[in-house]
Amino acid sequence: MSKKVAIIGSGFSSLSAACYLSKLGFEVSVYEKNETVGGRARQLIRDGFTFDIGPSWYWMPDIFERFFGDFGKKTSDYYSLDKLSPAYKIFFEDDVITIGDSMDKICDEFERIEKGSSKYLRKFILQAQDNYNIAINEIVYRPGLSPLELVTKDTILRVDQFFKSISGQVRKHFKNPKLIATLEFPVLFLGAKPSKTPAFYSFMNFADFGLGTWHPKGGMYKIIDGMRKLAEELGVSIHMGHAVEKIVVNDGSARGLVVNNKTIQADFVLSGADYHHSETLLDPEHRQYSEGYWDKKTFAPSSLLFYVGFDKKIKNVEHHNLFFDTDFEQHAEEIYDDPKWPTKPLFYVNFPTVTDQSMAPEGFESGFFLVPIAPGLEDTAELREQYFDIIMKRFQNRTDQKVENNIIFKESFCVNDFKEQYNSYKGNAYGMANTLFQTAFLRPGLKSKKVKDLYFTGQLTVPGPGVPPSLISGKLVSELIDKNK
Ligand SMILES: Cc1cc2nc3c(=O)[nH]c(=O)nc-3n(C[C@H](O)[C@H](O)[C@H](O)COP(=O)(O)OP(=O)(O)OC[C@H]3O[C@@H](n4cnc5c(N)ncnc54)[C@H](O)[C@@H]3O)c2cc1C
Repeated sequence: MSKKVAIIGSGFSSLSAACYLSKLGFEVSVYEKNETVGGRARQLIRDGFTFDIGPSWYWMPDIFERFFGDFGKKTSDYYSLDKLSPAYKIFFEDDVITIGDSMDKICDEFERIEKGSSKYLRKFILQAQDNYNIAINEIVYRPGLSPLELVTKDTILRVDQFFKSISGQVRKHFKNPKLIATLEFPVLFLGAKPSKTPAFYSFMNFADFGLGTWHPKGGMYKIIDGMRKLAEELGVSIHMGHAVEKIVVNDGSARGLVVNNKTIQADFVLSGADYHHSETLLDPEHRQYSEGYWDKKTFAPSSLLFYVGFDKKIKNVEHHNLFFDTDFEQHAEEIYDDPKWPTKPLFYVNFPTVTDQSMAPEGFESGFFLVPIAPGLEDTAELREQYFDIIMKRFQNRTDQKVENNIIFKESFCVNDFKEQYNSYKGNAYGMANTLFQTAFLRPGLKSKKVKDLYFTGQLTVPGPGVPPSLISGKLVSELIDKNK
């Protein structure tokens, strides 16, 4: 008889694990508290507009291909992809940098800003490509059980890159602050300041400039749709509107879940909900990590988000737009060192309808505005409005147009929603950061050290935050469960 696995949550990591476990012969059931699957990657549909609520950057297309490939499928069996050209635009106070879809175009843009900079850029991206190959082939697909996983011939040769920061490396070779900000941007996806992120993570720069920025037609939710379909094809049963209240432990082993006051038996429990929350579903003696442990960790930022429907097309923007027209350092300090609402926020705006009109009615634009903020901040309707005014003024000013009277509706999402909708620790948006001391075996483990047959997956564990790592996390944990069955 197949062994039963009960999975908490239906984010990328849970759906990935569900597919792998089902393929390995387990009987898999997923329990999700919300009414739709996808976790932080759900979708908002309103008045003919479609918004991805969370992730919008499709990077590392090879990881998605590898995921579907493990099931004898291709991404194109589930969704169609476009490579964005340009990939994105960065608005500075006195200039705009456009990142094209090839190294040649990007080098031309670097030369325009700083003569001679493209020579080192090509070298930097070649090194970043080596790091990418090492990370993907030798590091990230390992379960974080031992420090030895990080020790390979290639990592020994690059050991200094684990102790130097990406910020130091970039600043050594580039002097122009705009180019520095452009090259430091990709590691923000890892959740920490570039000055706290090891230089080895320059592989994110290869993901950016080398592999490019892609868009699944219809939005990022198409990936979730595809994974759900694949999971169901593999026999996974998915239960929405099922908030897990407790993880049942008998004689030191996880034996099921309590959902809606009913006990569900299982041979293994796997939680893809935020790790901190998952442990609160256990009696205190079964938890591995104290409140003090979580409080000391560097969390990725939370976010203030606005989903805005415009009744006209917006000028001078691309699909992805970064507004780096204020002090990057000050905003970073207000996220990590001295948590408070940012004095002069940097922000990001996504207009998927620039390349994909299926996401809004003809002639209209759907816009998603994101301000990264420290997790755990006070979140009120007044603060949200105050910040909407700030960024809308800056947006209009930098893009040279008036659009505030063309807003048909807007919805916001912030710290309180992250907590309420996902049981997110302090309302973090994308998990626990990847710093040197929060990498691989130093992250909260995939397998409980206290309760047998209890496992964890997702952006707070191995390998880290982001959609591609969440897909990998689901694969790693399934292999561990299979090994221990
Ligand atoms: C605003 C934002 C922008 C982002 N942008 C990008 C991007 O552009 N590119 C990128 O790669 N990544 C991005 N990310 C990160 C990416 O979305 C996440 O890393 C990924 O979606 C995390 O997946 P997960 O499976 O770990 O967790 P989640 O998606 O959080 O899934 C956990 C699930 O568990 C459920 N749950 C919680 N408690 C319970 C319970 N008691 N019972 C039942 N279910 C429960 C939750 O409802 C949720 O569905 C972004 C994230 C956010 C929030």
